[in-house]
Amino acid sequence: MVTSSAGSVTLDMPTARTLLAIPVMIISQPSSLPPALAAKVEQLAALIEGRLNSGGRGRVLVQLPEDQRKTLEFLHQQLGIRSRLPVRTLCVCRDCRHPKVVNLDLQRLREKNRNLKMLASVVGMSAGHGDPNPFTVFGSVFRQAKLDPDYVCGRCESTEADEQPVTFCPGCGDLRKESVLVTCAKCGHDFRGLVKGVLTWESAAPVDAVQALPSAPPPVPLPPVTPPSALPRLPPALLKHLAPKAPVPRRV
Ligand SMILES: [Zn+2]
Ligand SMILES: [Zn+2]
Repeated sequence: MVTSSAGSVTLDMPTARTLLAIPVMIISQPSSLPPALAAKVEQLAALIEGRLNSGGRGRVLVQLPEDQRKTLEFLHQQLGIRSRLPVRTLCVCRDCRHPKVVNLDLQRLREKNRNLKMLASVVGMSAGHGDPNPFTVFGSVFRQAKLDPDYVCGRCESTEADEQPVTFCPGCGDLRKESVLVTCAKCGHDFRGLVKGVLTWESAAPVDAVQALPSAPPPVPLPPVTPPSALPRLPPALLKHLAPKAPVPRRV
């Protein structure tokens, strides 16, 4: 996300669309957030959606009220977490409530939803770059079509299910159904650790600052970097935890 001093933010189209899947998930489970934050999420989603609907290519510029900055950071954090975790769909049979976990299959979605414009654009966007991030695909399809077009209940053969996105906790493998991922209720794993240090904001250089550069005072020397040897020794188990099998940051 690029921010400018004028209180606007630039998002690329796939990020903006995928970002909107987060509010849809949150709104479908109203108790997941304090009402005040849920209301803000809803307002921000309407703002971004309105901007997307007015067209444009590549990137969208959204005028962001100051009080919505934190909300956008929150959505971006949740998107970052979701993009680094497995994406599955939990289908719960409408008739007998039997649950079934389904793996989103891009190939199958492509075949069954040929006329989905969003899917076409996501797939087109990733042409030549391998398959897109599953959550990007998910975010594009979520509000428009059944995620599992071939759904059949394993117990009563109904073809109607309520679908919701789920993932698995990297700490304990538990199925996590909540729409906002903070900490695992079973093992306490902190999902926010997945996006720690990931850059959220990138500032567009204000024009006047660029012009002021030649007369700017010399840069203040940076404090010396602590050499790694000066770090306290950590037990290997903790070190392993600090350097997780970092999923390669995928394009979102
Ligand atoms: Zn059933
Ligand atoms: Zn866990």
